[in-house]
Amino acid sequence: MKLIVTGGAGFIGSAVIRTALESGQYQILNLDKLTYAGNRDSLSTVSGSDNYFFRKVDICDRDAVAGAFSDFQPDAIMHLAAESHVDRSIDGPGQFIQTNIVGTFNLLEIAKRYWSELPKERKDRFRFHHVSTDEVYGSLGDQGLFCEDTAYQPNSPYSASKASSDHLVRAWHHTYGLPVVTTNCSNNYGPYQFPEKLIPLVTLNALDGKPLPVYGKGDNIRDWLYVDDHARALLTVLERGHLGEVYNVGGRNERTNLEVVYSICDCLDQMVPLPSGKMRRELVTFVKDRPGHDKRYAIDASKLENELGWRASDNFDTGIRKTVAWYLEQKGSWCARVLDGSYRMERLGVIHES
Ligand code: NAD
Repeated sequence: MKLIVTGGAGFIGSAVIRTALESGQYQILNLDKLTYAGNRDSLSTVSGSDNYFFRKVDICDRDAVAGAFSDFQPDAIMHLAAESHVDRSIDGPGQFIQTNIVGTFNLLEIAKRYWSELPKERKDRFRFHHVSTDEVYGSLGDQGLFCEDTAYQPNSPYSASKASSDHLVRAWHHTYGLPVVTTNCSNNYGPYQFPEKLIPLVTLNALDGKPLPVYGKGDNIRDWLYVDDHARALLTVLERGHLGEVYNVGGRNERTNLEVVYSICDCLDQMVPLPSGKMRRELVTFVKDRPGHDKRYAIDASKLENELGWRASDNFDTGIRKTVAWYLEQKGSWCARVLDGSYRMERLGVIHES
């Protein structure tokens, strides 16, 4: 399958590309603007492959995207390119509107025109796979799970922009017949995640014995999925998902933020104890909560499991050990290279009252 991946130099996109190329079933063109979150280093294990191609492209740039479609002649597109960090969306929502909404609109228009001109047999096979988040559903109380028919209630500029893109994708299917599938996934973790997100940020700070700020009381709950499990789920839906359908992806691994931080501390204490003998859990400090912080996310992935046979391979305990070990190994290499100085692991997304 000739597949265009947008945002393939990011955390999840690079995992998809590595997994797809390993299967030997794909030729991939990666379209990525290389923002602070995109790094070609994350693809160093596959960049020499004859089946991998890269173009530095902003998905908002019509001519560049149309040129890529016309030159590469894809059988499908998997769309992951996005501004993805909630805290950054609080500080500056404009770029989220541009990339996540306008960029998705642009891709839909170009894909529609390309698809409508394909010969019948290729037209029937074409797929537009939109990759989204469970954050579009808003926040859960103590009980219940997000299903595919849960009403949308996005609360942050990030989730509102993703919800908006989901609606555009849905409308392009219903109005124009564009063959789309959408997936909404819970929080991912694993190798190659930019160190502004909770798990890599805490891992790198805890490694150095630095303070570990935790939002609020640390009791917000997320449903964690190891990134390679997400990548396999995405390829499963791309290959076998039913057109016009939405699939939720999640690993049934709910943890409070404090439990996540403690797990990282405990892994590190076993792997590299602090010279002082101090337990890393003692490094936790509680700071003012993120504005509008959703309380709990949890996914019901039974549609994907029952209809398409996907199962997560890692649970949180196995996944977090692999992840912490990877960051330990990469601290001086990948991590040092992606932290180019523009982000210094400081806190983002605080609303300052004047
Ligand atoms: P990321 O921030 O690590 O990567 C995003 C990639 O998109 C980067 O390579 C960046 O350079 C690229 N990009 C940004 N703006 C672009 C533009 N205008 N044109 C072209 N490329 C651009 O994000 P991620 O965590 O890998 O998330 C990928 C997708 O999965 C996003 O759509 C996100 O909403 C969704 N998602 C993420 C999670 C998660 O836990 N990280 C969970 C569910 C869904």
